[in-house]
Amino acid sequence: LQKLLKRKDLLCSAGFLAGNWVAQSSSKKEFSVTNPATGEVLATLPDFGREEASQAIDIAYVAQKAWAAKTGKERGAVLRLWHDLMIENADDLAAILTAEMGKPLAEARGEILYGASFVEWFAEEAKRIYGETIPGHQADKRIIVLKQPIGVVSSITPWNFPNAMIARKMAPALAVGCAFVAKPAAETPLSALAIALLAQEAGLPEGLLSILPSTSSSEMGKEFCENHKVRKLTFTGSTPVGRILMKQAADQVMRTSMELGGNAPFIVFDDANIDAAVEGAMISKYRNNGQTCVCANRIYVQAAVYDQFAEKLAVAVSKIKVGEGFEEGVSAGPLIDDKALAKVEDHIADAVSHGATVLTGGKRHSLGRTFFEPTVLTGVNKSMKVATEETFGPVAPLFKFDDVDDVIEQANDTIFGLASYFYANDLNRVWKVAEALEYGMVGVNTGLISTEVAPFGGVKQSGQGHEGSHHGCDDYLEMKYLCLGGI
Ligand code: ADP
Repeated sequence: LQKLLKRKDLLCSAGFLAGNWVAQSSSKKEFSVTNPATGEVLATLPDFGREEASQAIDIAYVAQKAWAAKTGKERGAVLRLWHDLMIENADDLAAILTAEMGKPLAEARGEILYGASFVEWFAEEAKRIYGETIPGHQADKRIIVLKQPIGVVSSITPWNFPNAMIARKMAPALAVGCAFVAKPAAETPLSALAIALLAQEAGLPEGLLSILPSTSSSEMGKEFCENHKVRKLTFTGSTPVGRILMKQAADQVMRTSMELGGNAPFIVFDDANIDAAVEGAMISKYRNNGQTCVCANRIYVQAAVYDQFAEKLAVAVSKIKVGEGFEEGVSAGPLIDDKALAKVEDHIADAVSHGATVLTGGKRHSLGRTFFEPTVLTGVNKSMKVATEETFGPVAPLFKFDDVDDVIEQANDTIFGLASYFYANDLNRVWKVAEALEYGMVGVNTGLISTEVAPFGGVKQSGQGHEGSHHGCDDYLEMKYLCLGGI
């Protein structure tokens, strides 16, 4: 990896603790970050624990006050510069991301630009943290609403988007005047550390940001929830861990934002443009090798177009080139680890044992390790695990349906409510289905919905809070009402 980088220093081997690069943890423990495609060790990092988290929080608590006192324009200028550095170093950041996570280089580069777009967006929004005036309820009263930064924010993020998941949280928090203490996933901490180095170069004041590499996630989670100087926890990850963290945060009545699991339905109606639906399914299902919380998990196809859609999808899927992310033309990397591979195999075996047919793929890839063949299953029904559990891998299960109301009921029959997608052209149907889907996000005739200008978030057990858009600031702001009397 070192050889590929123009700037070797972006591959960090220390944690970023309140402005200092710390190479040894108080426990002296270390851990290695490896490339899932090859097993190569990319870096060895200090394994931080509660001690370092508490230090970072103490310093952040002080630094935040001075940061909040700056104007939005001043904070925005630092973020803008930070964004420019991310773009300038996009190739190196992408290489680090591909190496630690496995996704193809072009996709990694796309993620870097996507992550940076949040930094740019919130650099602009920093100037627009508007309050409100409300006509007084008595003749001598005036009412004003202020929006103020919440304070020190703690963050826990997953491995599937090592750059963007943290950028989406860090940018709004810092833009509105909060401090940010983060624990990235132990599998992929290098992308987060690299952008912290760029934040330092952009002139982010010391102490405002910490990136704490750690394998003791539950200990870090406890410090984040129990430390009284922390006012907010923002988490992206699985619903079971989100539940644990919400319970822990409840003891302090701490504000939380939760971006949790999904079980996205992708519905193809008989009036849809089938080629467009196949293209959308390819993006929604196979991007990141099926390892995104908004990936299509259940594909429902209306009976009249089922065979046509299945055939076209299988042809497109069989053309996916699987391989190491750095290889030219590769569009699917390895799965993140053996556990992920086992889950994919289990879901396929379970579906087949209940009567499903493998149209293409279905087994481990000849490349070995955690590479898996992109798969399409037909004859799928709701008795199978793929109907209720998030597969988080390159498997498209195709359910057949006849009736519109019935498919809406099936699509909503889950504890999750993050992303959903459907393809249809009849205007009445489009409107009716879009309103009926119990999801925070609905892609209509598109398989790609993520952008910094729109509010990303889930309902039901997929979480609460929003990332992106002007609403994204609210997750990091408190509302304060001033009542001026005797006027
Ligand atoms: P994923 O399936 O994406 O790994 P997880 O919810 O297990 O989802 O992990 C998301 C993040 O939450 C990771 O950074 C992980 O280290 C962290 N994590 C896992 N368990 C806990 C816990 N009990 N408390 C705090 N953080 C945790």
